[in-house]
Amino acid sequence: MTDEFTYKFCLYCGKKLEQNNRGRRKKYCSIECKREWEKTHHKTYNLHCAYCEKEYKAFTNKNRKYCSHDCYIKDRFWRKEDAAEILKNISENKKVEHVPKWLKKLLLFNKEK
Ligand SMILES: [Zn+2]
Ligand SMILES: [Zn+2]
Repeated sequence: MTDEFTYKFCLYCGKKLEQNNRGRRKKYCSIECKREWEKTHHKTYNLHCAYCEKEYKAFTNKNRKYCSHDCYIKDRFWRKEDAAEILKNISENKKVEHVPKWLKKLLLFNKEK
């Protein structure tokens, strides 16, 4: 009975499932539902790094602020030097992967003038 029920409706949204008799039985109506369900059941959080603003996933701890230890260190101790390095890269048209939030603001602010 429980087994029957499990495969009749999408585990995430409860939509009726059309089962294909061949192959594996579906538990979700769509990949999106599968993802959402797994997200809520593994407690992953989509967070934005306070330093580089990159989106990252955190497991169990939604109070995390940085995507990596690197960003944490940079945000705390490496501001002026970091900016000099990034500005150098920008002026040389090199790819810059981590542009910190405060520096972006600074650059935008300068452009507006
Ligand atoms: Zn669904
Ligand atoms: Zn980061």
